[in-house]
Amino acid sequence: MKFRSTRGSDQLITFEETLLSAYGKDGGMWMAERVPEISLETLKDWKHLSYIEVVQKVVALHVSEDEIPYKEQEELLNRAYQKFNIKEVVKMAALTKQVQVMELFHGESMAFKDLAMCCVSEFLQYFLEKRKSFFTAFIATSGDTGGSAAYSVCGKPNIDVVVLYPQTFVSEIQAMMMTSIPDDNVHVYAVEGDMMDIDELMIEILYDKEFVANNNLGTMNSITFCRLMVQMAHHIWAYLQAAKVIGDYVDIVVPTGGAGNITACFLAQLSGVPIRAHAVTNINDCFHQIVTNNSVKLAKVKKTLAPAMDISFPGNFERVIWLASNQSGEIVSAAINTFLNGEEMHLPEFVHNKIQKYMQTAIIDQEGIKSAMLKCYSEHKYFVCPHTATALSYIFTRNLDKDYKNVVAMATAHPAKFPEILESVGLPPVPSTIVDGIRKQEKRCLKLEKDSNWRDLICKKIVDITAKHQANNKSLLCN
Ligand SMILES: *Cc1c(COP(=O)(O)O)cnc(C)c1O
Repeated sequence: MKFRSTRGSDQLITFEETLLSAYGKDGGMWMAERVPEISLETLKDWKHLSYIEVVQKVVALHVSEDEIPYKEQEELLNRAYQKFNIKEVVKMAALTKQVQVMELFHGESMAFKDLAMCCVSEFLQYFLEKRKSFFTAFIATSGDTGGSAAYSVCGKPNIDVVVLYPQTFVSEIQAMMMTSIPDDNVHVYAVEGDMMDIDELMIEILYDKEFVANNNLGTMNSITFCRLMVQMAHHIWAYLQAAKVIGDYVDIVVPTGGAGNITACFLAQLSGVPIRAHAVTNINDCFHQIVTNNSVKLAKVKKTLAPAMDISFPGNFERVIWLASNQSGEIVSAAINTFLNGEEMHLPEFVHNKIQKYMQTAIIDQEGIKSAMLKCYSEHKYFVCPHTATALSYIFTRNLDKDYKNVVAMATAHPAKFPEILESVGLPPVPSTIVDGIRKQEKRCLKLEKDSNWRDLICKKIVDITAKHQANNKSLLCN
């Protein structure tokens, strides 16, 4: 399989190159040139596979043996999941007869992002060792990406991460996770600004082609195609668990922020898995507005109880448009440019209709989040984090727990990661030895103050990292 950009250039690249370059030369995001087919027959064969085995199958459909022999792919992926807290990696909790909660949060940072991030860093390390090269990932995070990426590169000498988070928008434990990692390839900045400021800075730096090339700079945000590819696997595994008979429909409800997870679900649907997808946002509802009303304008980020979903624009919507428009770079560029110019964005009708055929969306407000957290505890003795609560609120209020047979709510973070929110809702704390351990560790954090020149400071840090690798004589520049 080769990969192409969502903005229409005819450049085709390898999987390795999708990991190393954040954007295409035309500014687009990388996608597999076609969606691989997964037939019902295949799903029947996969019915009893473990989660890791499904990941291996999905990866093998995308990454050719020329790039990584299948045997090595399997070993690499087994290695990627070694640090998970349960050996099954993911598991289902039955809430009611119809509704299962898929726990995606048993990785090191206790968020679903660990599922794909650990593979991204393992693939990167694999290719970098072969190239005798290094890589610096620039990461903007509204909550969980930073911790997940930082943990995933521990012990991987060829990768550094520079993580920026908005100081007042992340939870205490999310911040502690990032700042308690002692490894010297992890560089964490608390920023006096919001996610929009950080995204702007990131685009500015990652679009500077010369700087990017000189410093082997990229990202591990959900811009990275590998993350979506691996995330397809948990939707497929959810399907295999929930479908009584292969071929039955399963409803999957996905808490949505940057829309990487729901785009992975869309890919699984397009590959042929009979899933009905439901994307739920908090009051940062851009994704809902486009999908349901086909009209949206850039808005400021609002702080909510579900911080990892507090974003102004779901970056992966670009990929959704591309997939729904039969890979039209023109339609993607027109839509995204309109939006970024602050104008109202509308999609051509056939594109909008296609998206609506595959997914429904809804907004869950602060009250909805709170009451779903309470209801899960009082009626089911089950704790959910505020992000997962958006999915459950949707299920309860839309009667999915009554009208549909096989419903899966994606639980995207561990509730113990949000003690202050549990407390504010009136729930008892969730004990966690992992969180207790993190609290005790020493913290270190760099600052980007409001009035300083952020771009200069970050670029200097990145140049220093490059110098470190060159001095170590570990590597030569990639390009
Ligand atoms: C990142 C995240 C989300 C949103 O996922 P996207 O792929 O960005 O839509 C939801 N919940 C939690 C806990 C997250 O960390």
